[in-house]
Amino acid sequence: MRIGVLAMQGAFREHKWAIERLGEEAVEVRLPHHLKDVDGIIIPGGESTTIGKLLNRYKLMEPIKELAAKGIPIMGTCAGMILLAKDIIGSEQPRLGFMDISVVRNGFGRQVESFEVDLDINAIGRVPFHAVFIRAPYVKNMEPQVGILAQVEEKVVMARQGNFLACAFHPELTEDDRVHSYFLKMVKENL
Ligand code: GLN
Repeated sequence: MRIGVLAMQGAFREHKWAIERLGEEAVEVRLPHHLKDVDGIIIPGGESTTIGKLLNRYKLMEPIKELAAKGIPIMGTCAGMILLAKDIIGSEQPRLGFMDISVVRNGFGRQVESFEVDLDINAIGRVPFHAVFIRAPYVKNMEPQVGILAQVEEKVVMARQGNFLACAFHPELTEDDRVHSYFLKMVKENL
């Protein structure tokens, strides 16, 4: 399987390494032709406004939308989750907008820049996942077709809708590859 990792800005290398640890190929995506033959796409964390603008500047918005419409699985982490959302509360910034979710940017407050928590994610197994949150968003509202995979108190921090997977935390920053493995399973099911 070949996974395209959007490499505009932010934590893309760690995603690449996670995919490679799992024995699959990862390619850095900066221009439309890098999307050739990818079976899945990862939108990493970083700064969502900047990534959105760069997606427009490098003409990646449309080709990614075409692949999404074909059913190619797409995982967004942190800023990537924001880009997957149809609604970003209080913001008109550019987005892919694939998921019927409303997200709150920097949703855990500005004084708490980052924190780590052991999350229960039943979809990946019984052992809690040590999740790193950095100026993370959360999902405030969603349509019924969106499945909740994890929550921190009442805040939804991982959700799936069909071929789209959104994570408010950074699964690439730990050595636990179960979230990437779950994503690769989605990719495999779509081949
Ligand atoms: N707060 C950032 C944003 O709104 C996301 C932070 C991250 O990706 N670590 O874009």
